Amino acid sequence: MLDTILKGGLPIGKNVLWQELRRTEFEQAVKADAIVIIPVAATEQHGEHLPVNTDASACFTIAQRAAQAIEEFPVLVLPVIWTGYSPMFVAYPVTITLKYHTFVEVLTEIAVSVYAHGFRKILCLNGHGGNHAIVAGIGRKLIDEEHVPSVGYSWWFIPSVEEQM
Ligand SMILES: [Zn+2]
Repeated sequence: MLDTILKGGLPIGKNVLWQELRRTEFEQAVKADAIVIIPVAATEQHGEHLPVNTDASACFTIAQRAAQAIEEFPVLVLPVIWTGYSPMFVAYPVTITLKYHTFVEVLTEIAVSVYAHGFRKILCLNGHGGNHAIVAGIGRKLIDEEHVPSVGYSWWFIPSVEEQM
């Protein structure tokens, strides 16, 4: 299925976007124990051939299409976190970065907010290499300091993606 998603297939047109749901739909999603994906990306240079929203667009699209393709349980996708940890690219005029601790706090406070609304399955789906170590480790901080269970993953480490790269 991921192969279809990566090639642009959109199996189902159901709405999975957090920002477009009504309050009653959130209540239903909580009762159904929905998974919530927090797409985490960057706004930065991507060479001379790609736009600055490359990470954000790819990460959000993968999250949205995966959520639409899953029929066994509900999955919601938050708006993409469009800025991340990109100090390595600040020499380029397009890059917008957060400092390390600011970025960690942004992720923390968004995940804590999602949890506070009753969602118990949270995935931080990363789409930017500079964020990888932070997102991969955020679960430890969230459970130890906030008692919020979560998983952090970079989309290119999804096993079937690795096989195709
Ligand atoms: Zn990047």
